[in-house]
Amino acid sequence: MAEAQTIAAGLVVTVHYKLTLDDGQVVDSSEGDEPMAYLHGRGNIVPGLEAALEGKTAGEDLKVSVSPEEGYGVRRPDALHQVNRSAFPEDAKLEVGIAFQAMDEHENPIAGTITAIENDEITVDFNHPLAGRTLNFEVQIIEIRPATAEEQSHGHVHGPGGHPH
Ligand code: ZN
Repeated sequence: MAEAQTIAAGLVVTVHYKLTLDDGQVVDSSEGDEPMAYLHGRGNIVPGLEAALEGKTAGEDLKVSVSPEEGYGVRRPDALHQVNRSAFPEDAKLEVGIAFQAMDEHENPIAGTITAIENDEITVDFNHPLAGRTLNFEVQIIEIRPATAEEQSHGHVHGPGGHPH
């Protein structure tokens, strides 16, 4: 029997996963869905999870607790911005808790959430919603395969469970 292939950079890894926060809230799960495929070593998944999967084999189950630093980052106070109501489109629905997309200074889309409204001053939080949170992953490794040349050049997986284009 051939030696089992272990997870390393340049391989496509298919996993079932469940992401739970410390308060027990399930944020994301592939349960009842297609497993997720990602290209290992290319930052497709959070660094702490990618590091934990390195060297593992298909059929393994693992539980990984990922710190904010190795997950979606710590919460940055400077990601809170005061924006005047006039900066929003006139018909925009402005309520606490509403999420929307803006453009950063490099014209990249960036997600923000309204956290406070005081008269015409709107406070928008541009932190990632999972910044500052410990991420508890339960992962089941389904399959490991080499990436195609096209996947290598794009830096992500194509086909089932992969990038939709
Ligand atoms: Zn692609």
